[in-house]
Amino acid sequence: MTTTVLGYPRIGPDRELKRASEAYWRGRTTVSELDAVAARLRRGVWETLRDAGVAEIPANTFSYYDHMLDTAVLFDLVPERFRTPAFAGEGREAELRRYFAMARGADDVAPLEMTKWFDTNYHYLVPELAPGRRPRLADPAKPLSEFTQAKGLGIRTHPVIVGPLTFLMLAKPAADAPEGWRPLDLLDDLLGCYAELLARLAAAGAHQVQLDEPILATDDGRAEPVALERAYTRLGELTDRPELFVATYFGSIGTAALDVLKRTGVERIGLDLVAGPESVDEVAAVSGLGGKTLVAGVVDGRNVWRADLPKALSTLGSLLGLADRVVVGTSCSLLHVPIDLDAETDLDPVIRERLAFARQKVDEVVLLGRALSAGDGGIAAELERARTSAPDTAAFVNPRVRARLDALGDSAVRNGHDRRGAAQADEPPLQTTTIGSFPQTPDVRKARADHRAGRIDDAEYTRRMRAEIDRVIKLQEDIGLDILVHGEPERNDMVQYFAERLDGFVTTQKGWVQSYGSRCVRPPILYGDVSRPEAMTVDWITYAQSRTDKPVKGMLTGPVTMLAWSFVRDDQPLGDTARQVALALRDEVSDLERAGIRHIQVDEAALRELLPLRAERHADYLAWAIGSFRLATSGVGDSTRIHTHMCYSEFGRIVGAIEQLDADVTSVEAARSHMELVDDLAEAGYERGIGPGVYDIHSPRVPTADEIESALRDALRAVDPRRLWVNPDCGLKTRRYEEVEPALRNMVEAARRVRADL
Ligand code: GLN
Ligand code: ZN
Repeated sequence: MTTTVLGYPRIGPDRELKRASEAYWRGRTTVSELDAVAARLRRGVWETLRDAGVAEIPANTFSYYDHMLDTAVLFDLVPERFRTPAFAGEGREAELRRYFAMARGADDVAPLEMTKWFDTNYHYLVPELAPGRRPRLADPAKPLSEFTQAKGLGIRTHPVIVGPLTFLMLAKPAADAPEGWRPLDLLDDLLGCYAELLARLAAAGAHQVQLDEPILATDDGRAEPVALERAYTRLGELTDRPELFVATYFGSIGTAALDVLKRTGVERIGLDLVAGPESVDEVAAVSGLGGKTLVAGVVDGRNVWRADLPKALSTLGSLLGLADRVVVGTSCSLLHVPIDLDAETDLDPVIRERLAFARQKVDEVVLLGRALSAGDGGIAAELERARTSAPDTAAFVNPRVRARLDALGDSAVRNGHDRRGAAQADEPPLQTTTIGSFPQTPDVRKARADHRAGRIDDAEYTRRMRAEIDRVIKLQEDIGLDILVHGEPERNDMVQYFAERLDGFVTTQKGWVQSYGSRCVRPPILYGDVSRPEAMTVDWITYAQSRTDKPVKGMLTGPVTMLAWSFVRDDQPLGDTARQVALALRDEVSDLERAGIRHIQVDEAALRELLPLRAERHADYLAWAIGSFRLATSGVGDSTRIHTHMCYSEFGRIVGAIEQLDADVTSVEAARSHMELVDDLAEAGYERGIGPGVYDIHSPRVPTADEIESALRDALRAVDPRRLWVNPDCGLKTRRYEEVEPALRNMVEAARRVRADL
């Protein structure tokens, strides 16, 4: 028993889960059809892992939507608004109705807040906890059902459950929780439920349970050694339980946590040796893990590069004396990488040779396990191949880009808002706009697919896209928006679109990764120096501008986001790569400006997401993130407005950085986090335009003009009306016109009412 993976993608090789759940939501299929697809997907994963030779196979890594939501439901920590008669009822159908309502909202009931899972592009639903809501183990308990399903197939698995610390620390206090109360205050109660669950799993025959505690890699998690000790001492002391495997990942956990865990009765500790290579020294510093097993995460679960096997072996070798046993594992769940490289038929062989997706990473784990247990185990040839197939990265160097970047001095990133501010002093109050994309109708998708497949030629494709742009422009004029957008119909995805037009990137055909729920993305692969062969957006934007007298906003994706939502080369610092992307964008910005576009938005949707988990690394990150944004945007003249957009809340830690980006207007998600950001920004003395999203586009619910109006009035307590912009909290591409049109009309109406009172 020497190998494991911490988790595996759950959407299915052909995004079966997406199709099945969306059909179910639309009422086209039944609960049992959905459940059957889910059972097939789980079985597929277990069989894949078993057949590949993985010794220890995880279960309960499947989810209908999200594993944090599953955990909240598992412990019956369901907010009151989902306990009304509307959600009552027994049985599977009622259960799922409530579950999906928590994920997606329903009629008048807002869903749980959604936010990034650590520094990944996966989103989890944030449990809302309060002291009056005691946890209780649900029946049936999902980890138990999935374990039993696997057992029925003759496959021995160990259930994976979010650990108590991570669960509580990622939850938030419900609105009605008393001031100062923390979800962590529920720890003792919750441990009782874990104990009960462990006993039931043991009774069902589970030999081991994996408790995921990635929170230990963060500053917040490291600050709770007492809670950590309480939790695992108590669970460790249980007699009626499977072996406990505490899996940590996304960074090292520090010697304090290692010391604590060493003292408890847990049998295994998992460490991420990719994101936290310093873990090896930390384990040595606590004089090893004693009689415990160390699960060594040496195969990167977050990136698509083939493992450096000799290096991984030497890391494993250095761990051998430090624990009773060493198990080879992935650094984290493989949820974050595409499923199978074999599904890609179009990749340049030189690039392909360097890649490993989830399925290939499983083979790497198994190979390393063989090498570790049998010395050679017949893998000498494999290792030799790995050694000699080191890529010739010289082929990916672009000397022209490097020379231009070297030649660009500080003037390239000079502060521009102060200069532009004067030209923009008399902005009207509460200008309305959107974040960029409009719903992608079946016609639009079909046109793109037909074009890609060669069924329609360039001229026909352009004609169809222009017709769509015409429609979107007319609609916006009719709704009465102030700053229009072209709607992004030509973009499959805000990162992929640019990746397809920049040198240095490749895109995949089926490299889907779950982003949230049924939403999947296909991150491009940035393998070499980046450059822009030609303008990427100018034709579409200028066409849109030619159809209206209102200003049309040009729409680009910023360097940090291009990196955050791609798989990025790891042979040079991220900051160097970001500057190359920024230079290409700078050229695009200047082409747009030359074409007469006066509002240019450079989306940094992922700025917060890439923020390192440890505060000691923030300054470095922000320096290159801000520098690259400014490199991209600071070449414009005084009358051009630079907009930016960021997704997701919890900007608290980077309000200063938002100012330094030097954009004139920043739109952000705030709808699900109740305008907290506006207060944070006001407190930090932020003085530029701000568009706190006034409604949540992640939910199909149409907001009323009244509630938007009240959100705006809320924001006005902290912001001058000339600096307050009115917009949804993200792009509209995933919504339908039935939702978008009334929502935008209500938004414009709300802005009108508030303006009238100024
Ligand atoms: N401009 C993009 C859009 O509207 C921004 C999307 C995003 O922030 N995720 O789709
Ligand atoms: Zn967004």
